[in-house]
Amino acid sequence: MVTTANVRNIRFDNADPREPRSVNLYFDHYRGEPIYRAVAYLANSGCEWSLKTGGCTMCGTKNSALRRPISDDEFFAQFAIIRKCVEEFNAALDTPVKSLHIYNDGFFFNDNEISPRAREAVFEMACELNMCKLVIETNGLDIVRDNRSTDYLGKAVKSLGKTEFEITLGIESANPLVRALYNKPDSIDDVKNSLDIIRSKGAIAKGYVLVKGPMMTEAEAYEDCVNTIRTLKQWSNGGRFRVEFQPVCLLPNTLHEYLISLNRNDPYFWEPPLLSTLFRILANFPDMSEDLYTALFARIDEDSPWEFWQNRPHDDPETTYRLYLKLVEYYLHRRHDSITSALQLANESLWQQRIARKIPQPLEERVRLVKKLLAQSRKSNMQLSDYLKTHLEPGSDFFSSCEKHLSSVNPDDSA
Ligand code: SF4
Repeated sequence: MVTTANVRNIRFDNADPREPRSVNLYFDHYRGEPIYRAVAYLANSGCEWSLKTGGCTMCGTKNSALRRPISDDEFFAQFAIIRKCVEEFNAALDTPVKSLHIYNDGFFFNDNEISPRAREAVFEMACELNMCKLVIETNGLDIVRDNRSTDYLGKAVKSLGKTEFEITLGIESANPLVRALYNKPDSIDDVKNSLDIIRSKGAIAKGYVLVKGPMMTEAEAYEDCVNTIRTLKQWSNGGRFRVEFQPVCLLPNTLHEYLISLNRNDPYFWEPPLLSTLFRILANFPDMSEDLYTALFARIDEDSPWEFWQNRPHDDPETTYRLYLKLVEYYLHRRHDSITSALQLANESLWQQRIARKIPQPLEERVRLVKKLLAQSRKSNMQLSDYLKTHLEPGSDFFSSCEKHLSSVNPDDSA
């Protein structure tokens, strides 16, 4: 039987390009049944968007990128370790791992990040390990570009044969303004086209949807996540789509790393979404079953920010833990009543207080501000969070402090 007790996290030397960063044993679903999945985080060169621009405001992949090309031989050495780990997992489990997730923290079909030969080796590994599905992550730009020229995706579906190919796009939101706040590289049209391209080539389309990135309130985050899932449903027009919604957690070198240091009364103060917000999102989609889930279960990793969640004042630790177990129960067994019972446990007055919080500036104004700050931080060759730490007065009101700073730089520089 698939159980959380078997979860494993095997970590390697993060600086060695011949070793993956980690190989983990988690769980997933396949055709209505709980299954085990192996998730491998590769040592990687870094996402192209991140290397060129500093990346998305809420993304922490830059922290582990090696920032130099990874050779095929180095990737092959990583794959050999992944195979060995999966074989070891299988030897200890009563049911083998059926789903393999290979994450390179960037654009899977970009030749500068992972070569065609190394990608082929990933497909071979998935087939030889008898996986029911292979899951990778990428972005709309990558899929649209591939569709125009190389068609790596179409060829991959063919070479994978009966192994399903699940393509996960970092969609985050269907609202272009929210996506601009996060500095996403692709347009919403790229995202929509990519989902159609993925389906037309016989792969499974999945999107990450973000819950409460920086500069969003709890109420906005909830509404945006629900609207995004509804939009994806509409776009899929009866076709299959999967959603993994991601509560944002604190990571170094992100915009919210700076925002969490603000005074709690500042409208831009960031804290992670309530666990009960996740249940409220799930409650909107009783019909999506295994195709809607949150990866929060992964927070049981020993190197995860789970403790951070537990210690935040979003619910007392005991209630938080009980809510968390409900989430795992829902994740594993798809019992919709676990959502209702979780909401009965959750602290209603806390939710009411959280959703009452407002940011006075409309999204358009926040986007304008973020764009100017990003332009300045790029000019100074700094991460946005470092730029803010260097240039804003600690303890001051975030919005006016940014405005004051931007008015002091050359107007041509802040456009
Ligand atoms: S979220 Fe994706 S596209 Fe954005 S910086 Fe991170 S890896 Fe790159």
